Amino acid sequence: MKKHSALRIETLAIHAGHTPDPTTGAVMQPIHLSTSFERNPDGTYPAGYVYTRTDNPNRVALETCLTALEGGAAAAAFGSGMAAIAAIFQALAPGDHILFPDDAYFGAGRLVRELMAPWGLTYSVVNMADVDAVRAAMQPTTRLMWVETPSNPLLKITDIAAVAQIAHAAGARCAVDNTWPSPTGQQPLALGADLVMHATTKYLGGHSDLLGGAVIARAADAFFERIRLVQTIGGAAPSPFDCWLLMRSIRTLPYRMRAHSEHAQRIAEFLADHPAVESVHYPGLPGHPGHAIARQQMQQFGGMLSIQVRGGTDAAMRVAGRVQLFTRATSLGGVESLIEHRASVEGSHTTTPANLLRISVGLEHPDDLMADLAQALA
Ligand SMILES: *Cc1c(COP(=O)(O)O)cnc(C)c1O
Repeated sequence: MKKHSALRIETLAIHAGHTPDPTTGAVMQPIHLSTSFERNPDGTYPAGYVYTRTDNPNRVALETCLTALEGGAAAAAFGSGMAAIAAIFQALAPGDHILFPDDAYFGAGRLVRELMAPWGLTYSVVNMADVDAVRAAMQPTTRLMWVETPSNPLLKITDIAAVAQIAHAAGARCAVDNTWPSPTGQQPLALGADLVMHATTKYLGGHSDLLGGAVIARAADAFFERIRLVQTIGGAAPSPFDCWLLMRSIRTLPYRMRAHSEHAQRIAEFLADHPAVESVHYPGLPGHPGHAIARQQMQQFGGMLSIQVRGGTDAAMRVAGRVQLFTRATSLGGVESLIEHRASVEGSHTTTPANLLRISVGLEHPDDLMADLAQALA
């Protein structure tokens, strides 16, 4: 596997980064748990590996795979999605300004407010579904535009090509949290973004049993080298076992994502017609304000949606309390469906509507999922 560019994503997911083990011929790469690697008598290293924090064969395989899936030049894998976001922020310099979206993963907002601002980064918050508002919010010191589309939990859509152009005109980088669509649903680098971030904990892992993150860069430039430094010297490295598990999961990602998206579309349409539901947020619905842009820039609308239940917090909690197949839990992207009252998980800084339930649509039969939601909403 050398040239990846002409291959489809189903093929890349199975082959990129995979090579039979040269010492045994094992078809699947072994898990290299060793933290240290022996030197030759002349002081060189047989395969270039020195120490697992700085480099490990399972991590290199994963980074090779992720680079191919997103069409980038390089990737760095981390111990969590938050560590990947922190690495991008820490590659900035004190005084730099981050333009941040008004609806985004709650942990990313806390990271900016509670950790990065005290270290000297500045930020402001803007509605990134509004391109004119983004243009107006740029400051002379803006060096990073943080984009999450579809956003969490309102599934707002940002026009990646348009805002990346605004960022570049101002000498800033555009980074996209691509966790929700996954590389099969959206390819931000091809749309003009400079960096893609994933919580691999979610769809890439796909089974709710590992924590991980990644940054994929359009160019292996000096800024990416700083992100690499946060990984290797900052030490936010993933375990070889988690890298190996991800390589196993990613092989089925394109087929899982097709089903997640197909099921979510059906459930969104069902809920949009339900009298107990005030509104459904899903970019695959023609009435969604971002539908036209989503159709242009996404290959699939993904497996995440949120609904606002008529009647406020109590009504929403009652629905979450009555489902049988959906598990009441946070997180997303696994084969099992989850439902969550988001505002009460986010806590005091939340801007999430009190009657909102976030749904991660799994791979159960969609008719069974709809029957469960119907009885819970009745
Ligand atoms: C879960 C998530 C994160 C954080 O990832 P962790 O692996 O939990 O640290 C970041 N962004 C989005 C969109 C997420 O869903």
